[in-house]
Amino acid sequence: KAGALAEELEYNLYIVGGFVRDLLLGKANLDLDLVVEGDGIEFARRLNKELKGELDIYHEFGTAVLTLEDGMKLDVATTRVEYYSGIASLPEVELGCIQQDLFRRDFSINALAIQLNGHSFGQLVDYFNGREDLEQGVIRLLHNFSLYDDPTRIFRGLRFASRYGFKFEPRTKELIKQAVDLDVIEKLSNNRLFSKLQLGLQDKYPIKFINLLQEENILSYISPDIRWNEEKEKLATKVVDVLEWLKTLNLSFKFNEWVLYLMVLIWGMNHEQIKEFNQKFNLNKNLSYRLFFTLSFDSLSSRLKAAEDNSEIYYLLEGFAIEDLLLLLIKDFTLKDKVKLYLEELRWIDIKVSGEDIIDFGYKPGPFFQDALQAVKKAKLDGKIVNYQQEQRYLRD
Ligand code: ATP
Repeated sequence: KAGALAEELEYNLYIVGGFVRDLLLGKANLDLDLVVEGDGIEFARRLNKELKGELDIYHEFGTAVLTLEDGMKLDVATTRVEYYSGIASLPEVELGCIQQDLFRRDFSINALAIQLNGHSFGQLVDYFNGREDLEQGVIRLLHNFSLYDDPTRIFRGLRFASRYGFKFEPRTKELIKQAVDLDVIEKLSNNRLFSKLQLGLQDKYPIKFINLLQEENILSYISPDIRWNEEKEKLATKVVDVLEWLKTLNLSFKFNEWVLYLMVLIWGMNHEQIKEFNQKFNLNKNLSYRLFFTLSFDSLSSRLKAAEDNSEIYYLLEGFAIEDLLLLLIKDFTLKDKVKLYLEELRWIDIKVSGEDIIDFGYKPGPFFQDALQAVKKAKLDGKIVNYQQEQRYLRD
């Protein structure tokens, strides 16, 4: 439909960027970026009339996002009209437009397009050798000042290198080194810096991504207090095993896996350093607590090891987030049975007796109520009592 509409409007239409890259790599990518040599917003409006999705228009960027019922998203961008207005029928100029659009991109592997209209339907547009670079597994910047224009490209490059196991082409490697040495990363706001780190940790191979950050001397820009070494890398490799183990429990938890990698990454920082890190990146409360947890890790771990009674295990683990518990196992998987017991059983145990029962026994409310109920809960956790009657008897005694 898009191709036919482009023909009707006499626009050239291309699909560009990540979708094409992943198509050639044989990988799925559901982000469709369309570029038209013409009025992209008008094109998106007309296309949406046919596809009946939801349309968001961003006039300032000349782009539109079309969301279809099945959740699929189409980004439609416009190549700037002034480049070719009035002479749209001249093919060299038309080609020039998509060429310029592609030249603005970061790496050759992301600067590929496929034409979607007319006689050239399905034709690969490859001005910068992107296809060969994909075949060779090479990441190549398109121009020398690219990283100064946009330092986030360094992080994008590392992300693609880690995701696909690609190498930087020598000149690109040199450009990254030069840009990092010239402190280009300091130009990024802390918010952006953190979001680029997060994207890398969320990508397919977070450990490789961290290794590349280390190799390119970028970790110190995130925090001078981060230490990354073989020992921590080894720990990080355990994340996957622990997550697999968690799956076998069949419990549903909502949490972000990348946070585990972040916890391992900052592990070893002291209280002051973590506080600074949290402030620098303006991390939310939950995330800040997770990072602070790395400080209590050692004592919790040894106390849990020594714990024998169920109630001891319960009171040790109560209040910690699932990420914290998983971190315990990342460091010491022998604790898994205790964590499992807590997750599957202990945390659900509740008592049915309440202050009302104590009043029924003829007592006036007082601070001892709390202790008495706590004692009942402890007995229940340890399996000494199981039902309401036993709880009542225990409470009375
Ligand atoms: P991913 O698979 O991680 O989503 P992607 O390449 O599809 O990767 P997008 O952020 O969706 O990432 O970008 C789409 C396209 O836009 C890229 O393929 C690239 O051509 C271009 N692009 C994105 N970010 C930049 C950038 N910072 N500098 C230059 N071009 C960029």
